[in-house]
Amino acid sequence: MALSTPLSQMSVALPIGIDGSSRSMIKVQSVSFTEKSCGPLLRLDTVSRKLSLKKRSTVCMSLQQQASRSKVSVTPLELEEPKETPLNLYRPKEPYTAKIVSVERIVGPQAPGETCHIVIDHDGKVPYWEGQSYGVIPPGENPKKPGAPHNVRLYSIASTRYGDSFDGKTASLCVRRAQYYDPETGKEDPSKAGVCSNFLCNAKPGDKVQITGPSGKVMLLPEEDPKATHIMIATGTGVAPFRGYLRRMFMEDVPTFKFDGLAWLFLGVANSDSLLYDEEFSSYLKDYPENFRYDKALSREEKNKKGGKMYVQDKIEEYSDEIFKLLDNGAHIYFCGLKGMMPGIQDTLKRVAEERGESWEQKLTQLRKNKQWHVEVY
Ligand code: FAD
Repeated sequence: MALSTPLSQMSVALPIGIDGSSRSMIKVQSVSFTEKSCGPLLRLDTVSRKLSLKKRSTVCMSLQQQASRSKVSVTPLELEEPKETPLNLYRPKEPYTAKIVSVERIVGPQAPGETCHIVIDHDGKVPYWEGQSYGVIPPGENPKKPGAPHNVRLYSIASTRYGDSFDGKTASLCVRRAQYYDPETGKEDPSKAGVCSNFLCNAKPGDKVQITGPSGKVMLLPEEDPKATHIMIATGTGVAPFRGYLRRMFMEDVPTFKFDGLAWLFLGVANSDSLLYDEEFSSYLKDYPENFRYDKALSREEKNKKGGKMYVQDKIEEYSDEIFKLLDNGAHIYFCGLKGMMPGIQDTLKRVAEERGESWEQKLTQLRKNKQWHVEVY
């Protein structure tokens, strides 16, 4: 299918054109993040009803316009121009002071832990490319170096260079609140809670946030071939860079990147309440079934074929024939999430390679040499 197919009105069409302002886009999008339990039609109704109080005729027109629009236009297109990746524009000694636009919990009540979608206003001063990270310096003193600020914590950027407001002025992060549980009592110990993730998840609109970067090149999306295959393996917040890729591929109208290849996302989380950006991804599945595949592994809800917990590596194994063929044909494969995900995945890939009579070591060396293998784990 060509990518001129209209996107569903649920996730994309609604934000633009409501009143033409980027802030209303953020507001409308936030409805779909927070009302996790609502079905898409209910969300649409909720939003429409709220808007209809003020601008009924505008909304109707905007929805009609949406039907004929395939993608969201973005500005400023100068963000496509630089040939060099933006890198370390702001360093820890002189960070940029940005502002929090919004912080929203994006997991349901049964999710273990809390994950928030955080939109940061950098006013266009800290441009980045999809797949890069920002550094955040939480306020306060570094306990290990009295008088000095905290160390920088890195967060993968979960939006495209245009941000969720499509105007190049914001960046979004997907942050899991780091909590500490006493191994003996199993009780939470707030005195040992993660400093930066809690600062970000507790932040309020308008709060200042010190950022550094952008940093990282390993997860940049290679765009030379718009027909390329991109296999993305994520656990939890590791989905952040892939949300950026997928918005660039399927949500935004960018003159320099007309994606018509295959994007295949494997997302591993604990249960269905822990799924991240599921509605956004499901809409791509509906609108671009030949360009997007989306497989989820819910470790606490599903069983693998051996009766154990379902992890991303079990999904990889299920589709290993296709994955190996795609890799042989030049597909890029990306891994992002907690460090602990890699050993299980590597073991599975090695086992599958051996069953196919191939040497995994040789294959991996080749994939690295061809720049098809991209890993960012933390
Ligand atoms: P810290 O204060 O640094 O604490 C670290 C851990 O130690 C916490 O779990 C805390 O609960 C525990 N702890 C604190 N005190 C004690 C104690 N006395 N005894 C035992 N344990 C203790 N994270 C995301 O959520 N989303 C991302 O997209 C993301 N992207 C990343 C990208 C990169 C390239 C890297 C390197 C990391 C990324 N991270 C991401 C992780 C992030 O940088 C932080 O490491 C994470 O948020 C924890 O930082 P913190 O300041 O909250 O915790």
